[in-house]
Order: sequence, then structure tokens, then C-alpha cells
Amino acid sequence: MELNNKSGIYFWVFIFCFTIIVWSSVFLYGFDGKLKVYFLNVGQGDAIFIETPDKFQVLVDGGPDNSILSELSSVMPFYDKSIDLLVLTHPQKDHIFGLIDVLKRYEVKNVLFSSIQYKSNIYDEFKKIIKEKNINFIEAKAGKSLVLGDLVKMDLIYPFFDASSKKVKNPNDISLAFVLTFLEKKFLFAGDAELKEEIDLVNSGIDIDVDVLKLNHHGSNTSNSELFLEKTSPDIAVISVGKDNPYKHPSKEVLERIKDIKILRTDINGKIIIKTDGFKLKYQTEFN
Ligand SMILES: [Zn+2]
Repeated sequence: MELNNKSGIYFWVFIFCFTIIVWSSVFLYGFDGKLKVYFLNVGQGDAIFIETPDKFQVLVDGGPDNSILSELSSVMPFYDKSIDLLVLTHPQKDHIFGLIDVLKRYEVKNVLFSSIQYKSNIYDEFKKIIKEKNINFIEAKAGKSLVLGDLVKMDLIYPFFDASSKKVKNPNDISLAFVLTFLEKKFLFAGDAELKEEIDLVNSGIDIDVDVLKLNHHGSNTSNSELFLEKTSPDIAVISVGKDNPYKHPSKEVLERIKDIKILRTDINGKIIIKTDGFKLKYQTEFN
């Protein structure tokens, strides 16, 4: 009898704790009608987690090591182990490495990248896991538009050509680029695009006037030309970069070019969250 009473108490304690955990998760990660873009703090590399108001989740690149896993757990509910779309801008280590563990540990529903030919063991493993897990593959090509739930879309703007099976020495030059739009607000992401791709984009006549720009190639001076910055005219520039990195990113010249707009940097601000209701932008940072 006593045992039964105890079991009953344990049962109600369990139900109470479970309810608290579920409701705290709803408050923490709940539905607030906003698009959230998290620039994760993964050191010298890129990893951007996007969540639409309908909870459609996208991960763009995975950073140079395993820090993506703890960063993802800090922005996703503990019970959520699936990602709707995984995007690889180009197969260099500082963008692809962390994605291997993500592919292994999460249920990834779709992957999007340019299937270029590039010699790299990590890239080979990346493609192997996708094949083994039978994940839906979308070849990246300008002109494709992906609908991410209601009101949010992802327009691919680079590469213009079919890059599949194209041999490349410098994958930066074929960085997948896209514009993310939610009502009146736009974000532009173009991996490590350098001057050549920037000129192609400007000359294409595609509308690249945006509100938030992730600076290309960690703020390097071989990218982020005056012309590109003028055409994109962002209100906020985000730099995904590691502290004291050997490449001296971001370059002083680039910082000078964007001195009149809001600059957010993962090496100084840590994780950066930009939220929008489609009309206004708000940002929060981990540090400073
Ligand atoms: Zn990079």
C-alpha cells in the first residue's frame, strides 16, 4: 500500500516536472511570428542557423570544428533533433567540417549545395553520409526559389551556371549565394565569395539591395568591394570571424568601408541573433 502511495507521488512529481519543462520550452522557443537568424560563434568559419515563424529550420555551413553541436543546442529545443534544410555554401574546412557531425546526429531532411568537383576527404565524407542516409539533395543554381513556410523565401542567386561536376581550384569563387526574404526584410549570404563573384552578382542586375549582409569571406579585403557594399546597402553588416585569426580578418580597409553602418562580429559579440517581424529588425548579442 505504502509502495503504491510512493509510486503515485513519483507519478505526479514526474507529470509536474514534465509540464514545467514543456512550458518553459514553449516560452523559450515559442511561436512569436518572427524570423530568427543566429550567427553562431564557431571561431574562424561560418555557421548560421535560421528559424522561420513556422519553425522551418535551416543551417547554413557548420564551422571549422565540433563547436557547432553546442552552439546548435543553445538555440534549438533539447527535444528537437531534426533540421529541415542544410546548406553548404562551398566545401572548404571552415564551412563544412562541423556539418559532418550534424549529419550524423540530426535528422536532416534536405541538403542544398553545388556538387562541384573538389579534392577533400571531408567533402567526400559529407557526400557519402548524404547518400547513405538517402537525404534529399537539391542542386544549387541561381533562379531556384525555396519556400520556407509561409511568407519566407530563399532565392538562390549564385552560381548562374550548372556547377555540378565542375572542377574548381578555389571553391570560394563558386560560393552559393542566396537572399532570404521575409515580407519587407532581406538578408544576403554568399559564403566566401570574392571579387569575381561580387562583380558577377552586381552585373547580373539581380536585386541585391538588402537589410542585413553577412560580409563575404569573414570580412576579407579580397571581397566586400566598395561596389558590392554600395549595391547591397545593408543597415547591419555581420562578420563571422575567429578571434586573433592568422588571416587578420576582417581587414581594416573593409571595416573602414562599412564604418557608417552597424557592425556585429562573432569574435567580439559572440553569438548574434537578428530577429524580424518582416518590418523591423532587432538584434541581440551574447557578449557586449
Ligand atoms: Zn571561410
